[in-house]
Amino acid sequence: MSGTGRCTVVVGCQWGDEGKGKIVDVLAEGADIVARYQGGANAGHTVHVGEDEFILHQIPSGILHQGKRCLLGNGVVLDVEQFFREYDGLAARQIALTGRVGVSRRAHVLLPYHRFLDKASESSSAQKIGTTGRGIGPAYEDKVGRRGIRVVDFADGAHLAERVEAAMERVCARLDHLGHGAGDELHRQMDVALALRERLLALATDTGPEISRALKAGKQVLLEGAQGTALDLDQGTYPFVTSSNTTAAGAATGTGIGPTAIDSVVGVVKAYTTRVGEGPLPTGFDAEMDEHVRRLGGEFGATTGRPRRCGWFDSVLSRFAAQVNGLTGVAVTKLDVLDTLAELQVATAYRMPDGSVVTDFPADTRSLGKVEPVYETLPGWQAPTGGARRLEDLPAGARRYLDRLEELTDAPVRWVSVGSKRSQIIEVV
Ligand code: GDP
Repeated sequence: MSGTGRCTVVVGCQWGDEGKGKIVDVLAEGADIVARYQGGANAGHTVHVGEDEFILHQIPSGILHQGKRCLLGNGVVLDVEQFFREYDGLAARQIALTGRVGVSRRAHVLLPYHRFLDKASESSSAQKIGTTGRGIGPAYEDKVGRRGIRVVDFADGAHLAERVEAAMERVCARLDHLGHGAGDELHRQMDVALALRERLLALATDTGPEISRALKAGKQVLLEGAQGTALDLDQGTYPFVTSSNTTAAGAATGTGIGPTAIDSVVGVVKAYTTRVGEGPLPTGFDAEMDEHVRRLGGEFGATTGRPRRCGWFDSVLSRFAAQVNGLTGVAVTKLDVLDTLAELQVATAYRMPDGSVVTDFPADTRSLGKVEPVYETLPGWQAPTGGARRLEDLPAGARRYLDRLEELTDAPVRWVSVGSKRSQIIEVV
C-alpha cells in the first residue's frame, strides 16, 4: 500500500459506484486487515480477478487476496442470510475463508422483516428515495430507534427469541397499516435467518480492539467505505441519501477506533459522474450522451441492474468530498471510458436559481436540482489508455485532464485506473 499510511480509509467521492471495489482490491495487496465500516447489502462491488468476476455485497473485497483478514464493523447492518449466501458462494469458488472473516458483535443485524418494511414503505411513500429495497433504511431506523437486534444478542437464545417476538409484533402491525400483510413468507424467511445463529456467532469479534491491536503490532489496515460522499446521511443530498455515514469519519465510528488512528484517506472519483436512484445530478448529460456514456462505461447497478444516470465530472462535488473526507490522495477510475470523446466538460461552479455563482456544494438539495453547472471545456485525447502503466504512457490530453481534475479537487491524484483488470492501474509516484 505505498502512498498510504498504516491505517487507510477508502471512500467514494460521488454518488457511489466510483470503482471503490477495484481500488480497495489494489490496495488490499499490502494490507493485513480490510474492514467495512457502514452500509449493508445494497452496495455491490464488482472486482475482476483474471478472467473471474466477483460481485461482493458485504464481505470486503480484500477476501480475494489470500490470507487477509476481512471484518464487518459495527457501523454496518448485517443482512445475515445474504451474508452467508455470499460467504458460501466464495467458498464454492475455492476462496479459503477459515479464520479470515469477522463480524462486529456491535453490528446490527438486518432481518427479513426489514426488507418487507422497506418494500412496503417505498411503494406507499409519496417521496421515493430510490432505495434498493434491501431493508437497509429500516434496519438503521431500528438502530437509531434503539430497538435493533445486534450480533451480540444472538448469543443468548431466549433473549434473542424475546427480541424477535417483540420486533415481529411491531413489524406486522406496521405492515398491516401499510396494506402489505406479512403472511407466511415472512415467518418462513425469519426461520431461515435465525437458523444461521451459530454460524454468525462463530464469526463474532470486537472490531475496534482487534484493529487497534493490529495497528500496534505494525500491521496495515484498510477501511472500506460503501456508496459515496454525496450519499452520506449528514453531508449528502438529503433526503436522497443512504442511512449511514459514508464519509471518512464514519470509518472511526463504524469500526470502533479513534479518528487519530487513521493515517490517510483515499478518495475514489470516477473520471465522470454517475448516479443511481432518485435525486438531483447537476452535471447530467442529455439523453443521447447519457445513453452513449452509460454503454461505454457499463453503468448499470451491480446489485439491481438499474441503469445509472451519467454526467460530466463535477469538481464542485469532488472539492467538497476532499474537504469533508480530509482526503490525502485521490484515485481516478474509468479514465478509459472517455477515450473516444472529442471534447470533455468539467463543472467548476454552479449558477444558482437566483443567478449567483457558488463553488461550495450547496446544502439545499432542492436548489441543487435547479442549478446550472458552469463548465470548462477540455480537449479529448481520442486514443486508448487501457495499456498505460505510468503517467507518461498516457496521451497528453488525458494528462491535462487529470491535472485539471487534481487542481479543481484540491487533492493529489495518486492512482489512475484505466480498465477493470487488477493490472490496469497507474500509481503516481
Ligand atoms: P464500486 O461499488 O464503487 O466498487 O463500483 P462498482 O462495483 O459499480 O464498480 C464499477 C465497475 O467498473 C466494475 O464493473 C469495475 O470492474 C469497473 N471498473 C473499475 N475501474 C475501472 C476502470 O478504470 N475502467 C473500466 N473500464 N472499468 C472499471
